[in-house]
Formats: sequence, structure tokens, C-alpha cells
Amino acid sequence: MKAAVVSTFKERLEIKDIAIPDVGAKDVLVKIHACGICHTDLHACHGDWPVKPKLPLVPGHEGVGEIVKLGSEIHHLKVGDRVGIPWLFSACGQCDYCLEGQETLCLEQQNAGYSVDGSYAEYCLANGDYVVKIPDNLSFVDAAPLFCAGVTTYKALKVSEVKPGQWMAIVGAGGLGHLAIQYALAMGMKVIAVDTGAEKMALAKKLGATHFIDFKHDKPSEKIQQLVGGAHGVVCTAVSKVAFAESYRSVRRGGSIVLVGLPPEEMPIPIFDTVLNAVKVIGSIVGTRKDLKECLQFAADGKVKAIIEVKPLEQINEIFADMLKGEITGRIVVDMGNEA
Ligand code: NAD
Ligand code: ZN
Ligand code: ZN
Repeated sequence: MKAAVVSTFKERLEIKDIAIPDVGAKDVLVKIHACGICHTDLHACHGDWPVKPKLPLVPGHEGVGEIVKLGSEIHHLKVGDRVGIPWLFSACGQCDYCLEGQETLCLEQQNAGYSVDGSYAEYCLANGDYVVKIPDNLSFVDAAPLFCAGVTTYKALKVSEVKPGQWMAIVGAGGLGHLAIQYALAMGMKVIAVDTGAEKMALAKKLGATHFIDFKHDKPSEKIQQLVGGAHGVVCTAVSKVAFAESYRSVRRGGSIVLVGLPPEEMPIPIFDTVLNAVKVIGSIVGTRKDLKECLQFAADGKVKAIIEVKPLEQINEIFADMLKGEITGRIVVDMGNEA
């Protein structure tokens, strides 16, 4: 099968012909139709983080497609089911975290396109218990970005505990951020988007953001304090240390800042201000299968729609180059050449 493979960190991915994986008792084999390109895939291919991925690696954790083969112990799915393979490839199902509905914190978890091969390929092996079905009225390309960008931002907004009618600042209006704007609005929040450039401003405004702040022209924290007296919550998806410092200063007293973007740097937090202002600093990592089901339903109900550009897998290196420069508006989805 055709797959995009990285063999050395920071080197170009190569399109290779590799073996279709064997299906174990608890596995399903998914014929991939589409896969969204997440900035995490770029971090993986660059070896940016303290925990490194396997090498060689087939990246991709927004893969969607149809089941073509089932392991002998998988009885709740059938050949032809339309499913996606999220970042949470599998978890143990037995630890405290798994039992408490916090499976994304399981210490035994495997991650698609990181610790195991992902969906930049014509076929991807998945754990039958951890794939999530796609609602019938959602196309593969529309569903793909929801399997990471969608569920991650949906969950981040939930943990922010910001209420309907309150101000939510979305810092970084890229692949994740443009969906965060939509989920926040669908949840009844009022949105301020922060990013740069005319295209991202136009998109944020079109999606319904009340304000757009260009971080290259204005200091977002000052502007947000001035416009609304500080946001009730901030979800920071930007891959930039400065953006996190700015996000911290953008919340009002008692507000929450949810850290989602993953620049490999530290964020200095002033103890005095955090205590006196009772600010909540919250980390948020993807979402559970239940979060994913909910977030897909928002799209199936027409409340959220990823802005997508479809490209062939062969262009992956150019897509990564554009992503590194911050030049992608919305999400790029690669099409595996099957009918979407
Ligand atoms: P992206 O490249 O599509 O978007 C990032 C956006 O941030 C771009 O639009 C860029 O212009 C903007 N940006 C850069 N500097 C900024 C600044 N100073 N202020 C405001 N905006 C700024 O990337 P993505 O796919 O949306 O991923 C974003 C980050 O989220 C990555 O680090 C990725 O690894 C991480 N991520 C985290 C989770 C999680 O579960 N926590 C899940 C998925 C992705
Ligand atoms: Zn992702
Ligand atoms: Zn577990």
C-alpha cells in the first residue's frame, strides 16, 4: 500500500510502498479515504517533544475510512462501517483514568501516527474498541478534521467552564482554532479570535467571531482587556511561547486559560497574580471517545463545519512547509484517491 513515511527527524517524508498490516483479534483494518493534517504530525516528524515517536513512522491521526477487515474478537462493528482513527489509538481500559472517563490520561495508551503507524496511508490498522463511527450525513473529508482538531477544541472549551454569553478568546485561529471558534459559538459563547493576516481575519469574522486581533499589529492581551475587560476564558492553540504569555494576560479575574498548543517550551506563570486573580491554568489533551461522539454530532447537526482544502498525499512536504510558516487557512485534508 502507498504511505507517507518519515525515517529521520526533520527529513522529508517519502511516499513508499509498504505492507498492509496484519489484523489481530482486537483490530480492524480501515481503508483510509481521507486524513486531516494536524500540526502535531509536524511536531512528530521533527521530533520536537521530549517523548519521541517510533521511527520509521507513518504519521496521521485524523484518518477516516471504511472497515474492510475485522479481528475475530470484534463483534460491535462490521465490514463497511465508516469510522475514524483518533490520536487515542488505544488505552488499557482498566486503570483509574480509564475507569473514571479520563482515558486520554491512561499511561498505557498508544497514539496513532506517533507510537503506532497512522493514517497517511491507503490502509490503517486500528483497535476496534477505539475507532469512532462517523454519522451518516457527514462526508469523509468533512469528518476527518473533527477526529483531532474538532474533538480537542470541543473538549478544551468544555473544561474552560466558560458559560453561554461569556467571552472566549481563541488564540491561534488555524486548523484547531477555526473549529474552536465554531464550537464556542455553538455553545453560546461570544468569541474573540487572535491570529494574523487578512485571510485568517476574514475567516474568523465569517465564522462569527465578534472581534479579530492581529497579533502582529496589536498586543492581544491589552486589546482584550480594553475591549471586554478580559476574557472569561482563553483557549490557546498557537505554537508560540509568546502566545501563551499573552493568553495568560488576556483573562479576567476568575477566568481560565486552557493550554492546547504544544510549542516545546516553558510558560512562566506569575504566582502572585495567579493567586490574587484566582486564575485557572488548565492543560487539555484531545478528548475521549464520548467527547468525539458529541463533537461529531455538532457537525452532523450542521452547527460546525471544517473549512477544508483537499490535496493529494504526495504534496505532504509542501503542506508541512506551509504549516510551519502559518500559511494554512482552515485544515488541509489529504485524499487517498478513494471516493470521499
Ligand atoms: P496550525 O498551524 O493549523 O495553527 C496554528 C495557528 O497559530 C496558525 O494559524 C498561526 O498563524 C497561529 N499563531 C502563530 N503564532 C501566534 C501568536 N503569537 N498568536 C496567535 N496565533 C498565532 O496548527 P494546529 O493543527 O491548529 O495545531 C496547533 C497546536 O496544537 C500544535 O502545537 C499541535 O501540536 C497542538 N495540538 C494539541 C492538541 C491537544 O490535545 N492539546 C491536539 C491537537 C493539536
Ligand atoms: Zn492532532
Ligand atoms: Zn488505562
